[in-house]
Amino acid sequence: MGAPPGAGGLDARQLARLRDALARLKGEALAGVRRSAGELSGEDAELFRDLGLTGDGALAEAEFGRDVAGASQVRAALLAIVEAERRLASGEYGLCEDCGEAIGFARLEAQPAASRCVRCQEIAEKRTGPSHFTG
Ligand SMILES: [Zn+2]
Repeated sequence: MGAPPGAGGLDARQLARLRDALARLKGEALAGVRRSAGELSGEDAELFRDLGLTGDGALAEAEFGRDVAGASQVRAALLAIVEAERRLASGEYGLCEDCGEAIGFARLEAQPAASRCVRCQEIAEKRTGPSHFTG
């Protein structure tokens, strides 16, 4: 494994801790999706099993992204977690996707799946509205 040093200004110990937090959140989100979905279609079940066990596969990710358009907040949260794990693997984790600045450990610890710094998140929420996932 070995995350590249200095990603988002985080040291190895901080990264390990956030990776743990993400894994835990993902488990909770998966459980939440299963609960909220009641009976999953076979396709869904396969997809979630995929995400839970391997966490990779561009196809599964594309399918999942499409699914999220009409999905619950739980699913959206799960997608954010999967995205964060991908950024972790590629060494982009901890950097704001809008301005490229370090998001900061305190914010990431509170919200491990955050992809923007506080400032850009506020701007994004003003742009799209806080109820982005409703309707
Ligand atoms: Zn930013």
